[in-house]
Amino acid sequence: MSDIVAIGVTGAAGRMGRSVIQAVLADPRARLAGGCEAPGHPAVGTPIRDPGSGQTTGLDINATPESLFAASDVVIDFTAPAASTRHAALAAETGTALVIGTTGLGPAEQAAIAAAAARAPILVAANFSLGINLLLALTRLAAARLGPDYDLEVLDFHHRHKKDAPSGTALALLRAAAEGRGLAPEAALAALAADRDGVRKPGALGFAVLRGGDVVGEHSVILAGEGERLELTHRASDRTVFARGALAAARWLAGRPPGLYSMADVLGLETLGG
Ligand code: NAD
Repeated sequence: MSDIVAIGVTGAAGRMGRSVIQAVLADPRARLAGGCEAPGHPAVGTPIRDPGSGQTTGLDINATPESLFAASDVVIDFTAPAASTRHAALAAETGTALVIGTTGLGPAEQAAIAAAAARAPILVAANFSLGINLLLALTRLAAARLGPDYDLEVLDFHHRHKKDAPSGTALALLRAAAEGRGLAPEAALAALAADRDGVRKPGALGFAVLRGGDVVGEHSVILAGEGERLELTHRASDRTVFARGALAAARWLAGRPPGLYSMADVLGLETLGG
């Protein structure tokens, strides 16, 4: 494999797909291998242009992910849960590396992606920003140090088109908080859904969701105790932060052995706050 990584983009006409294409075209260490869209999408058959300059790339959006995977060293996927699961199976069939940013993946979809990662390197992240990945580590630390006397709420605010709620990042923050409290993350998330009514149980985790306008993504972790409150907040002002992070993850993933990777592996954050 040369030093220049060939990147394929699924969901090429979507908000994130376009942002990833712009990031790839701006990076001399990467080359755009192609882009695909859902069959029947109006963008299929149209030229891929640089969303920044409007210049054509000589490539057209197709509806054949098979050819995209064959042409790419790494595919970057911000689409929808069913599509990402299908793309993970294609990664396993072709051995092509895959970076998945799609959120709202259910347990069966996560299991299918993990199974595909036995045959191809696959990296899944609910959020590719450096700040959020540091916030995950800080949340684990704060939940551990402040303990169950502090009620912990995760707040997420996103644009009106977002499909999943709470956000994948909010769920990742809740998992980090559960780990900090020494709870099994999936059991803590299940309890969360069941515990929304009535008086707050000591040490319970909670969340709130806001949707509206064009908000790119805001997350707060609030730890409220007797007489004090700690608030940790991250605001993404531009989705290029996710696209650049996904591209950095793709360059890191190229040529790795099969396995399921996370942004903590890319950023070396695993030990922080552990
Ligand atoms: P979007 O709706 O603008 O784009 C998704 C695109 O995927 C659409 O163009 C759709 O046609 C396409 N698509 C659907 N099925 C497909 C298929 N089978 N093959 C090819 N393309 C297909 O949505 P968006 O705002 O770009 O977000 C996409 C996903 O990324 C969401 O799950 C969102 O939550 C997530 N997201 C993650 C991060 C992160 O950092 N991980 C950041 C932003 C958004």
